[in-house]
Amino acid sequence: MADGTESESRKLLRRLREEMASEAAGQERLDRITHLIADSMASEVCSIYLFRDSETLELCATEGLAPESVHKTRMRMGEGLVGRVAMYSKVINTPDAPSAKGFRYMPETGEERYSSFLGIPIQRLGEKLGVLVVQSREAREFSADEVYALEVVAMVLAEMAELGAFVGEGAALSPLHQQSVVLTGGPAQEGSAEGHVWLHEPRVVVTNPIAEDPHTELERLSEAVEELRVGVDKMLEMSQDGDKEQLQVLEAYRMFANSRGWMRRMEEDISRGLSAEAAVEKEQSQARARMSQVSDPYLRERLADLDDLSNRLLRILTGQGNNIGAELPPDPILVARNIGPGDLLEYGRALKGIVLEEGSVGSHATIVARALAIPLVVHTGRITTEALNGDHILVDGDQGVVHLRPEDTVVGAFRDKMAMQAKAQERYASIRETLTETRDGHRINLVMNAGLMADLPSLESSGAEGVGLFRTELQFLIRNQMPKRQELVAQYARVLDAAKGKRVVFRTLDIGSDKVLPYMKHVAEPNPALGWRAIRVGLDKRGVMRMQLQALIRAANGRPLTIMFPFVAQAEEFHAARFEVDKTIAREKRLGHALPETLDVGAMLETPSLAFAPQKFFDEVGFISVGGNDLKQFFFAADRENELVRRRYDTLNVSFLTFIERIVERCSISGTPLSFCGEDAGRPVEALCLAAMGMRTLSMRPASIGPVKSLLLRSDLGEIRKIISDARHRGEQSVRPAVMEWLRNQT
Ligand code: PEP
Ligand code: MG
Repeated sequence: MADGTESESRKLLRRLREEMASEAAGQERLDRITHLIADSMASEVCSIYLFRDSETLELCATEGLAPESVHKTRMRMGEGLVGRVAMYSKVINTPDAPSAKGFRYMPETGEERYSSFLGIPIQRLGEKLGVLVVQSREAREFSADEVYALEVVAMVLAEMAELGAFVGEGAALSPLHQQSVVLTGGPAQEGSAEGHVWLHEPRVVVTNPIAEDPHTELERLSEAVEELRVGVDKMLEMSQDGDKEQLQVLEAYRMFANSRGWMRRMEEDISRGLSAEAAVEKEQSQARARMSQVSDPYLRERLADLDDLSNRLLRILTGQGNNIGAELPPDPILVARNIGPGDLLEYGRALKGIVLEEGSVGSHATIVARALAIPLVVHTGRITTEALNGDHILVDGDQGVVHLRPEDTVVGAFRDKMAMQAKAQERYASIRETLTETRDGHRINLVMNAGLMADLPSLESSGAEGVGLFRTELQFLIRNQMPKRQELVAQYARVLDAAKGKRVVFRTLDIGSDKVLPYMKHVAEPNPALGWRAIRVGLDKRGVMRMQLQALIRAANGRPLTIMFPFVAQAEEFHAARFEVDKTIAREKRLGHALPETLDVGAMLETPSLAFAPQKFFDEVGFISVGGNDLKQFFFAADRENELVRRRYDTLNVSFLTFIERIVERCSISGTPLSFCGEDAGRPVEALCLAAMGMRTLSMRPASIGPVKSLLLRSDLGEIRKIISDARHRGEQSVRPAVMEWLRNQT
């Protein structure tokens, strides 16, 4: 390599491969590798620095520097030239290291004698593993060819680290993903889980980074790229009349798949001695390193496309599909960049927990995870690069914290917490059949929210007295095409069968805002939450509304039926929808279908305006259910999906409770049945205050019924009401402190 010839670099790779195959222990192997590289580069020094933890690099092997500094010399990310190579994932090549920016003198190594410095990041798919350095006395800049050759070597070292080739004595020899890590994300579904990692899309393992015959490899690459191109073209053809964004992504794929630059770089890597898959991975690693440095969202997206494409190419080359033969562990915690609701449903309740690198609190996958009551943490940066199949993992869905490969003390504390939660669950199970009556004799009706077939067993297990909100849109959201009427009839009938005569409130399609049907034309709106959604869509697209109403009537097949329209902002909308129900009933009758034994049609109160509707509306509507999630966001003008503001206003804020009280009063004047079905109904203290304000039906996630019931059974609503009223008179902003104080004194 001193003379920069290809054959020299291939020779080095061949010797590295022999090293990989040898029986040597981790340290010995590293020592021999530094010797090999220094020799091949005709440099006095070659050193390998590996990460000890995510911030600290440690000198792990050297040829040329003082041997006693091995495992002693350390630097933090960004510190010295080595630290800078790691931090910026960039090569540093300088003939005069001591005068280079960021140089830090490390006396223990004896490096002062060396003038030129070449540092190359060792990284694998965006994961920083360490730095490879060569130094020499002669003040010279390393040639582009030498830099390139050393990059190829660094790539092979990264693969060797991935395969555990350096595992041995000393933590610094372990690749990062053998150390324990704590990652923080966003809590999306509460609960705790302990288990083992199951990668939804496992990374492809390249077991042969070095290849003997470049011609064979070039041929393999070109065949695989051809297969990839054909695949992308086919996808493009199939999506011609599909979604615009999807088309754009596919166009970008096609552009990359046909990119000469991309091909040329991979071909060069192969001619240096890399296998076809290692060449693809090297390109992918570099794209990922660039990705972490680009802030322009458009460019980032394109780099992400390239990343995706490389994955496809790797799967073609290695023949590894998503199924790499690993077995689902008995306690799987699913780890993925993202996952669609359909895929998640396929795993179903087998999963103990879910950790997503992307995802969001309002995503469809989250909706499914919630329905299945599987603890979920979203926005967990780096999880897919850090986690390996089978890793021990703890998921705290309450706090949004993930412990990967945890230390024993952490495991102990976590298990204590889980045991406490399990005890509480046992207590709740013992009151499952008890009717909810407060100490001062108020009967509260606790019902559940549902939306998927997977929810149905909870009707029995939670002790819910019925379904207060069946979100019919979930069935639409998890599919790729509009369901047929007949399918809906079958689904709704199953729900009613499972309810065994208990009341089920079917909410008609509530789409728009964050709930976008993938197969329906998407209209870009400046403020979707205030836009074309729910009943507004229903009234404008009567065909879909009629189809759903028909399906509900047919599913009821003579049984009682309850229908609720979402997001009614003014009485007229309800009247128009009610008119559709009556028309559909008349049509069904004409067609000879059985009509529901009773029909109850209600409205969701989710905008403040409806609370001030004329009395006539309250007299006519069958019932009202307060959609607290939406109502609260409009009452406080605080987006429920926006992390910056969504927790800013307390439900126990005096203004909000006073508003709720007003709704209760209006309903009681007309005798209109009233319920509350937002998330707050499932929070014990909030539920208690809502009951104290006069709500007698609360609809919540099944898992919340136990905790809410347990508190209500112990409480006196009259006392709570007095506490709220006193706090209000004292001019407090929220009644929470006063209520919490009272609760503490009770125990
Ligand atoms: C609500 O807004 O409170 C509600 C129950 O409906 P969703 O959460 O489905 O919008
Ligand atoms: Mg709503």
